[in-house]
Formats: sequence, structure tokens, C-alpha cells
Amino acid sequence: MPNTEDRFDTALSSLKKERLRITEPRKALLQLMADQSKPYSAEELHEMLGSSSFDLVTVYRNLEAFEKAGIVNRIPTESGKGLFEINAEQHHYHHIICRKCHKTEKLDTCEVKKLEKLASDLGYSEITHVLELYGVCETCR
Ligand SMILES: [Zn+2]
Ligand SMILES: [Zn+2]
Repeated sequence: MPNTEDRFDTALSSLKKERLRITEPRKALLQLMADQSKPYSAEELHEMLGSSSFDLVTVYRNLEAFEKAGIVNRIPTESGKGLFEINAEQHHYHHIICRKCHKTEKLDTCEVKKLEKLASDLGYSEITHVLELYGVCETCR
């Protein structure tokens, strides 16, 4: 896993590549996210930033822009609330998310290729998928 600094640098260069304006608040948000080892909700990130730099709506808007640019991943939760993490690793993987504490771990593989093959056999193109696993972690049990 790349370290904090690498993750921040990768995010910044993607920001430039996507021609998104680099503002101090955006830098603060990306720096904060680069420091985290698990994904957080927009509310949690807003709280961690402190009220000074952003209101919550702005945090949401920026996360959306980052997501579109591929700089952050949005991980859907069962409650419908998204969790966000910086996307420093370009390869594809999935998550197992604890229902109680939202601890999130990587499942560093994807077994969905067979299903995608079935879909493409049915004549579909540009196939993508979303797959997250939910459970209760050891600590919360
Ligand atoms: Zn847990
Ligand atoms: Zn997959």
C-alpha cells in the first residue's frame, strides 16, 4: 500500500490531470483522506476537517467531483450512506465492511470476471460491476 505522501501526490496529480482547480480546502481534504487507513463518510470527513475550511455541502460537492475524476472511491454501504477513500491504487479490488463500526478491509481480488463473461456473451459491452461485502468484524462480535 502506498504511503500517505505518495497517496497525496497521486491525488494531486490526478487533480491537475482532470483540470480541477487546486484550492487550499481541496488540498486539505485530500491530505486528510490520504492520511486515513479506512474510508469515511462525508459527515465524518467534515467533522475531522473542522468547520473552518468547508461546510458539509461543499465537502459533498468536492467528494463528488473527486469521484468523477477517479481520485476517490465511493463505497456504498447498506444504509445507503457512501464511504469515501482516496484511490491511489489503480487496480481493481473489493471491500468487506463491518456493519457496526464501518471498519473496511480490502479483498485483494475479484472473482466477478466469470459473470462479466456471461454478460458479454449475452451481447453487452462496457460492463462494470459494484460488489461490496458486509459483515460484523471480530472486534464488534
Ligand atoms: Zn466492527
Ligand atoms: Zn470486481
